[in-house]
Amino acid sequence: MSIDADTKLYCLIGNPISKSLSPMIHNSIFELNSINAKYLAFNVDSAADLEKVVDGIKALGIRGINVTIPYKIEIIQYLDEIDEKAEILGAVNTVLNIDGKLKGFNTDGNGFVKSLKDKEMDIKGKRAVIIGAGGAAHSIAVSLAYEGIKELIIINRNLHNALKLQKLVENIFPDVHIQCYKVEQEEMIPKEVELLINTTPVGMYPNVEGIPISPDIFTSKTVVYDIIYKPQKTKLILESEKLGYKTLSGLDMLINQAIYSQEIWNKGLFNEDTDWSYIKKRIVDKIDN
Ligand code: NAP
Repeated sequence: MSIDADTKLYCLIGNPISKSLSPMIHNSIFELNSINAKYLAFNVDSAADLEKVVDGIKALGIRGINVTIPYKIEIIQYLDEIDEKAEILGAVNTVLNIDGKLKGFNTDGNGFVKSLKDKEMDIKGKRAVIIGAGGAAHSIAVSLAYEGIKELIIINRNLHNALKLQKLVENIFPDVHIQCYKVEQEEMIPKEVELLINTTPVGMYPNVEGIPISPDIFTSKTVVYDIIYKPQKTKLILESEKLGYKTLSGLDMLINQAIYSQEIWNKGLFNEDTDWSYIKKRIVDKIDN
C-alpha cells in the first residue's frame, strides 16, 4: 500500500529497537487489512528525551505507540490516563492518542493468556510455575491472576525479586496462593503443575544451549510455555517435546500482544470477520523465511 496524505502513523519507541519484529508485524497487519497506515521504530537515546518525544507524538497526531525496554515505566509520567492492568503492573507497552490525550495500556499478559485460550486451555483453578520475576513475569502473573489461577510457584535467581512479585499479586488477588523458590531448591518445587512458563532469557539466541530448568521434574500433564521467540524451539521446548509434553513458543504471545495493541488503536477497523489466524500464519511465514 502506498503512502499518501491520509496515511496514519504508528510507532515503537525504545532502546535498542534495531532487532524488533514489531514493525514487520504491525505493517503486515495494516497491509493484510488494507489499512492506510505505517508503523516505524524510533530509537530514543535516553529517558531525558521522553518528554520531547511525547510532545512530538501529540503535535504530529501519531495515533498509537508501542513502548519497549527501557521506557515502559518512565513513559507513565507523561500519560494522561492509564488502564487498570497497566496501573497494577506500573508498566505500559501500548499508548493510544485520542485527540492529544494519551492513554496507556499493557497488552503483554493478555497476549500470553490469549495463546492459551486459543489452545482451549482453561487457567481457572490451575497451578502454574513461572521461572523469572522480571517485567514479562509480572505481566503474566497478573494476567493469570485475573483469569482465576489458583496457585503460582515463582522460581527466580534472585529470591528477593520473586518475593516482590508475590507481594504485588497477593495485594490485589489475595486468593491466589503463591510460593517462591530459587532454582536450586528443586526438591521444594511441586511436580504436579498444569503450566510451566519460562520468562527468563535463558536459552535465547545466541546462547541456545541454556535451559532454565529440567522439564523432567514435572509430569506429562504439564504444558510448557517458553516465551522466548528466538529460537522458536528453545532447548526447554525441545527437551519437553522429547518427554511428550505439550509446548508453546513465545512467537504466539508476541503476535497476540500486537493484535491487542491494534484492537486498542483501531477498534472500528476490525470485526468478527477479521481472520486473525490467517494473519498470524502470514506473519509466522515471514519470520520463518
Ligand atoms: P527482565 O525484566 O530483565 O527479567 C529477566 C528475568 O530473567 C529476571 O527474573 C532475571 O532474574 C532472570 N534472568 C536473567 N538472566 C538470567 C540468567 N542468566 N539465569 C537465570 N535467570 C536469569 O526481562 P523481561 O522483559 O521479563 O524479558 C525476559 C524474556 O522474555 C526475554 O527473553 C524476552 O525476549 C522475553 N519476552 C518475550 C515476550 C513475547 O512476547 N514472547 C514478551 C516480553 C519478553 P533476576 O531477578 O535474578 O535478575
